[in-house]
Amino acid sequence: MSRHALWPLLAVGVLLIAGSGDPAPLPSASASSLTPASVTDSASLAASSRNPSATPTGAVIAIAPPTTPNTSGAAKVATLDLTRVVVPPGDGALVVIDPGHGGDEIGAAAFGIVEKDSNLEMGRRVERLLTQAGYRVLLTRHDAGRAVGGVDGAGQPQGFSAQRRDLQARIDLANAAGASVFVSLHSNGLNDPSASGIETYYNAARPFSTYNRLLAQSIQSNVIAEMTRAGYRVHDRGTLDDACLRAFQGVCFPLFVLGPPRVTTRDEVLRRGGDPATLGFAAGQDAIASRATQMPGALAELLFVSSTDDARLLADDGAREALARGVVLGISRFLAEQPR
Ligand SMILES: [Zn+2]
Repeated sequence: MSRHALWPLLAVGVLLIAGSGDPAPLPSASASSLTPASVTDSASLAASSRNPSATPTGAVIAIAPPTTPNTSGAAKVATLDLTRVVVPPGDGALVVIDPGHGGDEIGAAAFGIVEKDSNLEMGRRVERLLTQAGYRVLLTRHDAGRAVGGVDGAGQPQGFSAQRRDLQARIDLANAAGASVFVSLHSNGLNDPSASGIETYYNAARPFSTYNRLLAQSIQSNVIAEMTRAGYRVHDRGTLDDACLRAFQGVCFPLFVLGPPRVTTRDEVLRRGGDPATLGFAAGQDAIASRATQMPGALAELLFVSSTDDARLLADDGAREALARGVVLGISRFLAEQPR
């Protein structure tokens, strides 16, 4: 979602980019105290099954349409169908895992790796390991389509509107479910094949800024450690504050799913080919504010699909499992260290 958005035009056949979460440069609680069984190493992760009931068969939560801090009152947000969301039962901390992209927005693609599919598969690995460790997990999407919430399919808005609703739905899902952390999973893509490695983004310009950074650092360091421990060589690109990841005309635009609420004007929506009505604009309303996650969040870019070496790792089951283990250890250690 992040870096490849900066280089949207890449050689066809080598690296395909479709959508990027929030394509710039257009003016685009503390951590949970519900610390579950702590996870101290990958061995315990693999063996642990301390919460066998934490399979997603729990009660369906009915979620009222979210309210929007609106710049001119009135407007309702386009209703998203979050009533199908199933929150797993149990008392483990709830983790929302967000496999990046979906639907006609495929993310980066090269060397046989299509990011949206790779992200989903990685999300399932992470879900499995987290569940084994006693956490409850919600994925923001379960198939090749967009996130839950009915933002995809016939009759739904396309292009910018679809993308914005899709990303907002992921945030709304995490908020409505009361998640403790929000972790988005991506892989990078660049038209520079020498770019490689792993990096994790956080946003320091909104509530939870310290926690966002700690979460990102925990994920980054544990992913690198697990890959190294498993014998895979990867480039550690570190953690990055996304607060000014993209700048355009002096305005900074963070990653949508990590950033603070953002005001989007009617003019901007129209300029980007979107439909204000489907984004919740009332008649005569000039601008609308998005909603940010109400819990710490981070976005991991797990390797570059555009690097031959990284793509080989992304196609390797052992490497993928090490990546997933690192993400899970990063999350669990972050949660375990937060004050109750
Ligand atoms: Zn991505």
